[in-house]
Amino acid sequence: MFASRIFWRIFGWYALLTMGLVLTLGSILADRMERTVVDTFRQRLHDTAEALRDSYEADFPEAPGRELQERLESLAERNQTRLTLVDDAGTVIGDSARAPAEMENHRERPELLMARKNGDGYARRKSPTLGIPMMYYAIRLTPAKRSRGFVRIAVDTSKIDSEVHSAKRLVWTSTAAISFIILVVTWGVLRRIVRPIEELTRAARAITAGRQTPRVDITRRDELGVLAASFNSMSTELAHRIEELQKQRLAISANSQLLETVLSAMTEGVVAVDSNQVVLFANGAARRLLDIDAHDIVGKPIWETARIGPLQQVLEETLRDGTAGRCSLEIPRTKATVALGVVCLSGNSSPGALIVLEDVTELRRLESVRRDFVSNVSHELKTPLTAIQAMSETLLDGGLEDDQHNRDFVERISEQADRLHALILDLLRLSRIEAEPDQLELTPVRVIDVLRRCIDEHRDTANSKNLQLDIDVPDAPLMVLANSEGLTTIFDNLLDNAVKYSSAGGHIVVVATNDGEKIRIEVRDNGLGIPLEHQRRVFERFYRVDRARSRDVGGTGLGLAIVKHWVQLFDGEIELQSEFGHGTEVAIELAKA
Ligand code: ADP
Repeated sequence: MFASRIFWRIFGWYALLTMGLVLTLGSILADRMERTVVDTFRQRLHDTAEALRDSYEADFPEAPGRELQERLESLAERNQTRLTLVDDAGTVIGDSARAPAEMENHRERPELLMARKNGDGYARRKSPTLGIPMMYYAIRLTPAKRSRGFVRIAVDTSKIDSEVHSAKRLVWTSTAAISFIILVVTWGVLRRIVRPIEELTRAARAITAGRQTPRVDITRRDELGVLAASFNSMSTELAHRIEELQKQRLAISANSQLLETVLSAMTEGVVAVDSNQVVLFANGAARRLLDIDAHDIVGKPIWETARIGPLQQVLEETLRDGTAGRCSLEIPRTKATVALGVVCLSGNSSPGALIVLEDVTELRRLESVRRDFVSNVSHELKTPLTAIQAMSETLLDGGLEDDQHNRDFVERISEQADRLHALILDLLRLSRIEAEPDQLELTPVRVIDVLRRCIDEHRDTANSKNLQLDIDVPDAPLMVLANSEGLTTIFDNLLDNAVKYSSAGGHIVVVATNDGEKIRIEVRDNGLGIPLEHQRRVFERFYRVDRARSRDVGGTGLGLAIVKHWVQLFDGEIELQSEFGHGTEVAIELAKA
């Protein structure tokens, strides 16, 4: 209440007006009262003078006398006035306040001069006789025996002043009391008017500050009551709307969170830009694919963070023409191949675009591997087939009759057929392990059993090449999580290579060790070895260090590729160490069962 500006403004003005009005009215009233008091006194003087006229008009005394004096004194006392009789010459005949003999001539007294002239005279002045301020009233008499005489009535002005004073005091006290009452009533009425306004203001402020949607408790029938009722219904409506908005906001934020989770979990990159190419959203995959280091690229133009020409070009075309665009690009630093599609975002005339990125590096690599594979297979098949064809033709063209060479031709045809057979077997193995890797069931397999079986199978060949073939395994059973067929293929291929690429008198040893959680199997030979520059590629399909030699020894170039594939299916590791001219060691590590 005391802080209400509207209250103090209205009350201030009201108080000011009231004070002004009361002061004006008080002054007018006080003035009026003063005049009334003075008039009353004058009337009294006049009435007394008229009474004396009746007494002395006919019989005006000749000279002062004791009896006259006493009569004047008793009359004066009754009226509370001073009575004086003065003759035409100004000599005082009688006076209720002094002995006439002591008094000077009154001829020049202003009230007497006026009465001489007009019949009556009035004056307020200090009495030279009594030395006090007095009000005088004189009337002229025309007695029978004398030419003229005057009756003068006077009253002490201090009496008038005291009456005026008490009248004025009454006026001012009443006006002060009235003002006070007016102000108190004004205060009360204003309070009743301002309090609801204040309450409404407080409630409106609370709404503006967004803290709450309060209701005001004002039950009046006037306009303020109507306003309060409207305010309450507005507040209820607002609360309802706010609740709805909050629900919508929660739903939107849940949706956008879901969307963000989905987008960030995607392996495809997604970037949304506005019509000025400023990034609105970018998921982690997009940053990774576009090789953007900065974490927060939202709000920045895309060309500032990803300076990739083809992307820029497609994006500009899409934004300009509104058509979808696609292209494939290579990221300079990572060398990754990324396919991107750009579509216009739906919305107003120029809303921006959505860029979807996909890492196709592996796809491209696989495509190229497939292409190479097909050409390699064709080549590998063509060579023995051509040889078989040529030798068959030679035999048919008379070679059959050539007893010296026909057997040799047939043997070479058989050799090439064996090569073809080996090649096809390897291809079949490869395709089998590639076709159903998911259905492969890993079971505990005793490594040593498989190893011994494989070594036994290669022993004859090794002996025929004069190679020493040893095995060095611990006594423990050494169980691995694998597949018996795959494990056999692995050891077969490794032993086959060791035998193939070792010279007579060489030494091959197979070592198995129990390395904590893993089992490590090494196939070592001291044969030809592999030059350093070829070591990285020998696991590729059809890769051979020395093509002619490999072919001579019946290699297909698929052995190590098949080995690597099986090891990967067993979740194992493979490594190759070799020194050209000194030997090779191929080691595999498999999980213990
Ligand atoms: P291949 O059937 O020709 O032996 P692999 O895939 O088994 O094919 O081997 C690829 C190439 O790696 C071989 O051509 C050979 O040159 C080389 N290589 C593999 N094992 C050995 C080894 N133990 N010693 C020397 N060279 C080897």
